[in-house]
Amino acid sequence: MKEFGACPTPFYFYDMKLLDLTLDAIIKEKGDFHVHYALKANSNPEIVSHIAARGFGADCVSGGEIQRALDCGVPANKIVFAGVGKTDAEINLALRVGIGCFNVESAEEMQVISALAVKAGTVARIAIRVNPNIDAHTHANITTGLAENKFGINFEMLPATVNLAHSLPGVELTGLHFHIGSQILDNEPFERLCHVINRLQTQVRVNHINVGGGLGIDYVAPDEHPIPDFGSYFDVFRRNLNLMPGQTLHFELGRSIVAQCGSLISRVVYVKHGTAKNFLICDAGMSELIRPALYQARHKIENLSEPADAPIEKYDVVGPVCESSDVFGTDELLPVSCRGDLIAFRSAGAYGETMASNYNLRHLETPFYLEK
Ligand SMILES: *Cc1c(COP(=O)(O)O)cnc(C)c1O
Repeated sequence: MKEFGACPTPFYFYDMKLLDLTLDAIIKEKGDFHVHYALKANSNPEIVSHIAARGFGADCVSGGEIQRALDCGVPANKIVFAGVGKTDAEINLALRVGIGCFNVESAEEMQVISALAVKAGTVARIAIRVNPNIDAHTHANITTGLAENKFGINFEMLPATVNLAHSLPGVELTGLHFHIGSQILDNEPFERLCHVINRLQTQVRVNHINVGGGLGIDYVAPDEHPIPDFGSYFDVFRRNLNLMPGQTLHFELGRSIVAQCGSLISRVVYVKHGTAKNFLICDAGMSELIRPALYQARHKIENLSEPADAPIEKYDVVGPVCESSDVFGTDELLPVSCRGDLIAFRSAGAYGETMASNYNLRHLETPFYLEK
């Protein structure tokens, strides 16, 4: 990593070479599968443009993301649009630019899309998002495929929903869509998803299957595993999923593409010695990176300023925000640290910058730095 000595902190750092190597690996392993990058993981225009330039499509969850994808060079027909609460304005934007597919999450939404499409004199291509009722063994706040989640349509309602799609003049049913959760490190839930889809394929005929995203990354050892094992991930689908002749298979990968190329760089404001604990108080907090506070996530913490052979001390690494949950790590073993030292929170390229807020109004925007 570059010398950051004088840079104002905090900021996001993106290693564009690693992003490129990650994209190379996906392109090598995906074969004729279609990959749509999930913009909600990181919608920084530099990142999105870079991914778009390599031929990836986009998975969007709002009108703003659709606009961002278009602005960054993603062709409209490679954009898919998911989300349980698509507004009329967002649907109209998607119809106007001619996106590839609406991933529809309810019968109610399907009726609105159809009506707006008829009004616009067009037909919307749609996929029905099916809730496969699979436990992805991931954190409760990021599992999406269980019957009790707000996402998608449950099995029992699928036949009626398919019939509705066939009866509506403004929609054309082209696909089935699934997404079981995020940060999934074990291939077994994906295998079970394939078996569920194989069963549904006997009931519903569509042109494409979209299995969503969710492939996890190594937050513990980012330097040992900078690039996820895309080979065995795509192989799970190649081996277990029975595609119909002519049917295409689509993926929506977010985290696995961008997480490892990003770090949040912060500076130690104070080293505070308490009675029970020592604290490193950083100038970045949950307002820049909310994952630890929101999901008890852990990002590898490194002191970039002290020599590797410095004596070790135990610290709670915390942010400046007025919330008890603004903690990056407890009992972290780090080199003895000083005010002004630079701290890196690794693997922060996904769900970092996009989830940043102005809470506490410490600054109006989180800056970023690209190393090309
Ligand atoms: C968030 C999301 C994704 C991307 O998930 P990752 O875990 O980042 O790969 C894909 N599809 C849908 C529908 C999503 O909501």
